[in-house]
Amino acid sequence: MVSSGQIEFPGFAPEVPDLARYRWILANLSGGKDSQAMLVELMRHARAAGVVDRIVVVHADLGDAEWEGTAELAAEHAAFYGLRFEVVARTGSGLIDRIEERGMFPSADNRWCTSDFKRGPVRRLMTRLVREAEAEGHPGRVHILNVMGLRADESPARRRLLSFAHDSAYTCPCSYCAPRRAIADDHKARDLPVPKHAKTGWGASNTLRHVDTWLPVHTWSTSDVWAAVRPSGLRIHPAYAAGMPRLSCVFCVLASRSALVRAAQLQPALAARYAALEERIGHRFQADRSMADIIKEAEASPPIAAVACWQG
Ligand code: SF4
Repeated sequence: MVSSGQIEFPGFAPEVPDLARYRWILANLSGGKDSQAMLVELMRHARAAGVVDRIVVVHADLGDAEWEGTAELAAEHAAFYGLRFEVVARTGSGLIDRIEERGMFPSADNRWCTSDFKRGPVRRLMTRLVREAEAEGHPGRVHILNVMGLRADESPARRRLLSFAHDSAYTCPCSYCAPRRAIADDHKARDLPVPKHAKTGWGASNTLRHVDTWLPVHTWSTSDVWAAVRPSGLRIHPAYAAGMPRLSCVFCVLASRSALVRAAQLQPALAARYAALEERIGHRFQADRSMADIIKEAEASPPIAAVACWQG
């Protein structure tokens, strides 16, 4: 996942990064349509650059919170192109049990689900890949390109992301991060607030790895995505045909009312589990919407053929 460490390369915003610069190209695959389109696009460029063997497909497993068969589908997508496939997951309880442990659902302002279940486990894989490269005799820091299927159209937060950026961090010694750190250290030493332009963020880079992020389909519309996915030969998850606009957790805390209602019609047992959890922890699924209300609406509504909107 994209971290808060995104910094722009000054005067340098290539549409397609130089893939041959990276020892590893990490393709984050959820099994959903956007990451499928990302993979199609990545393969096109990786073949042209002759670096297909550097791609590792990673799926962050959310356990029983996600649509059935997504991990298997992501594995199938990787196998379709003959790519190495890795599943990563949080150590410890799954997302639903973790909500119970914390006594709260995640939210747009506190998306601990993403950091705990996606970003953290993917970073652990990066550590493993660095060790592999070192064992093979790779000299110096290991360059990793983290590739995701995020799109600007999905949300205002995603619109603000850069399609290609360095995943900066305080400990990263690169020529982008080191000067920022020097300014930040100087301000801290003088008890002054660190200026925005000197902040390095909390990215995935460190002394051993240089991580950049690339969002190949960032500017794509939903139609662009389907136009790439449909002829690709990659199987599409059945939740789309059942009316869902996105594939993520079955019940995503960021989803629209209509998407949640449709999900509750398709997965009533899981909806009931969330409603019981709400009851036990005394915290609503969304600030203005409880799962109990969603279930009531799902039961009272005719089957929804297609949900157009994810947000709202
Ligand atoms: S799909 Fe939604 S609820 Fe699930 S991890 Fe992502 S943001 Fe959190």
